[in-house]
Amino acid sequence: MSSSNTTTLVTNIGSLVTNDPAHAASPTDNLGLIHDAAVLIDGDRIAWTGRAADAPPADTAYDARGRAAIPGFVDSHSHLVFAGDRTQEFNARMSGRAYSAGGIRTTVAATRAATDEELEANVTHYLREALRQGTTTFETKSGYGLTTHDEARALRIASRHTDEVTYLGAHIVSPDYADDPAAYVALVTGEMLDACAPHARWIDVFCEKGAFDGDQARAILTAGKAKGLHPRIHANQLSHGPGVQLAAELDAASADHCTHLTDADVDALANSRTVATLLPGAEFSTRADWPDARRLLDAGATVALSTDCNPGSSFTSSMPFCIALAVRDMGMTPDEALWSATAGGAAALRRTDVGRLTPGARADLVLLDAPSHVHLAYRPGVPLVSEVWRGGVRTTGHAG
Ligand SMILES: [Zn+2]
Repeated sequence: MSSSNTTTLVTNIGSLVTNDPAHAASPTDNLGLIHDAAVLIDGDRIAWTGRAADAPPADTAYDARGRAAIPGFVDSHSHLVFAGDRTQEFNARMSGRAYSAGGIRTTVAATRAATDEELEANVTHYLREALRQGTTTFETKSGYGLTTHDEARALRIASRHTDEVTYLGAHIVSPDYADDPAAYVALVTGEMLDACAPHARWIDVFCEKGAFDGDQARAILTAGKAKGLHPRIHANQLSHGPGVQLAAELDAASADHCTHLTDADVDALANSRTVATLLPGAEFSTRADWPDARRLLDAGATVALSTDCNPGSSFTSSMPFCIALAVRDMGMTPDEALWSATAGGAAALRRTDVGRLTPGARADLVLLDAPSHVHLAYRPGVPLVSEVWRGGVRTTGHAG
C-alpha cells in the first residue's frame, strides 16, 4: 500500500461483517463480526478493520452513523450479454405452462440481431442496477450467440466490464445444428473455442436433458481446459444428472444450480474444492422446487449464492433478494446466506481478494440502511443498500 494514496476511515459502523477469520468469535463463526467498528481504506485496498475506538489516523473520515457494513456482493453467475425481452414467456409460465430450455432460442435470435452498441448498453444498464444493490464483483457469460462470431463478440463485450468472463457456447445446441448435435459439439470444441478462449477465463456447459449430456459436457470442458480455460458447470438444475459428479471430477470451480442432488452428489461436493452455487432466482421465476442449502451445508460443502440474472429463467440482479429467498426457503441462516453471497461467491471464482474485508483485499464495502446484515432477509424487497465503495471509490447508492 503506497503512502501516496489517500486514506479514508469509514467509522461509526454499528456492525461490520468482515468474513475475516482473524475476527471470528468462535471456530464456527465465519462472518468475523465487529460491533462499533471502522474500516480504513488506502487507495483501492482495505488497510485495516477493527473497533472504531482503536482506528489509526486517516486523511478523511466518513461517518456511517451506526449503519451495518458488509463486503460488496460477489455475483458469480449471470448472463448479461443478451438482447430482447421474455415478458410474455414469464407471463405464460406464471399462468400455468412449464419451463423448458428451449426458451433460450428466443433470446439467441434477439441477441444475434442486436448491434454491438445495443449489447454493450444492455450490459452497462444491468451492471449499474446490480451495483446499486451492492454487487461489486460479477461473472458473466456468452451463450446467446451460438455462432463463432456471436460468441466471440459477446465475450469481447463482457471482458470490457469484468475479468470473470465465461465461454458458454454450450448453452444449448444451436438451432442451426438441431439435426446434428455432434457437429455442434465439434464447433464448440474447435473453431469457436479458438476464437473465444482469448477473451475468457472460464468455460461452462449446460449439462441437462435437452442441452448437453455427460459425455458431451466432459468433451467440451476438457477441450476448454486444454486451451487454458477453467471449468464451471450448469449442473442438476431441472433433473438429476451427471453434472455435479463431472464438476468434481474435473475440479470445476463451481457446480451451478444443484437443485436435484443424490447423496453421492452431495458427498462429491463436500469432498472436493468445487463450490455448490445456488441460484434461487431461477426456482422463484419458474415456480420450481428449491435447492436444499441446509443439506449441502450440513454435509460440509461450500455454498455460494448468485442471481443467474438472465432474461428467461431468473430476471433479477438483486443479491439481497437471493439472500431473502435462501433464508426463507432453503434452510440457510441469515449469517450463512450473507457469507455465501460474498465470500462464497469469491470461492466460486477462486478469488481471495474480494468477498471479504481483510487487509490487502479490494476495498469493496456496502453500507446498509439497517443496524445489522440480518435485515437483508428480515426486510425482504426493501432497498437497504445505501452506499457502495468499489475499489475504494464511493459510488451512488439508493439513498446516496
Ligand atoms: Zn445460468
